[in-house]
Amino acid sequence: MNATILCYHKVGPGAEEGRRLNIEPDRLRTHVEFFARRKRAIVRACDLSDRWQPGTICFTFDDAYHSTMVHAPEIFEQIGVRASFYAVPGKVGGTSDWDGDLARPLANWDLLQQAHSRGHEIGNHSMQHLKMADIDGVKQRDEISIAHEAMEAHGISPKSFCFPYGSLNDSAIEQLKQCQYPIGLALGKAIAKDTDNRLKLPRVVVAYSDALPMLIYKITLKPLLKRRR
Ligand SMILES: [Zn+2]
Repeated sequence: MNATILCYHKVGPGAEEGRRLNIEPDRLRTHVEFFARRKRAIVRACDLSDRWQPGTICFTFDDAYHSTMVHAPEIFEQIGVRASFYAVPGKVGGTSDWDGDLARPLANWDLLQQAHSRGHEIGNHSMQHLKMADIDGVKQRDEISIAHEAMEAHGISPKSFCFPYGSLNDSAIEQLKQCQYPIGLALGKAIAKDTDNRLKLPRVVVAYSDALPMLIYKITLKPLLKRRR
């Protein structure tokens, strides 16, 4: 059984957010509607610890940008499904300063709690958005567990973890296991299989220019072509 886990970042008007890691709200809506109309199972990442339905789709959003939390939850709710948003507790309400000059505002706790109370998943994206492969095991553990506690202090109990930059190593996976997370998300441009390690499930990154036909190509034809190589 496969699950297609899509990775988005910002959701907002191009005039405000530019093209980098952003998608227009209307375009996101066409993506969600496409799968909903085909009766595909649209689940949150935390739901991937259960049995997968054929053709499962999961929409994930890294960093919990202010723009994303303003525009995206409503789109999913209007279609009757939910999504997963990954917050960086050490930066909530601030900016994505790891992006340097391209830093953008991140949602505050209030916006995160609102989405959480409406059934969306707010997951753990580490305390400070560091590359896990660049830090030692003790620091990796802190990045996961201190973030977890900070989220719990705000009434959100995260059930999945998303590796910043998709950066990970064996030690990071072990720390995640020790922290009792059932689901970890990486990158990897591949469709997840239910035989994959659930602590490093691959995701497909969706870009600004990915209109529906390109998205379909990315998640259907391209992985097949890749496998043949
Ligand atoms: Zn991130």
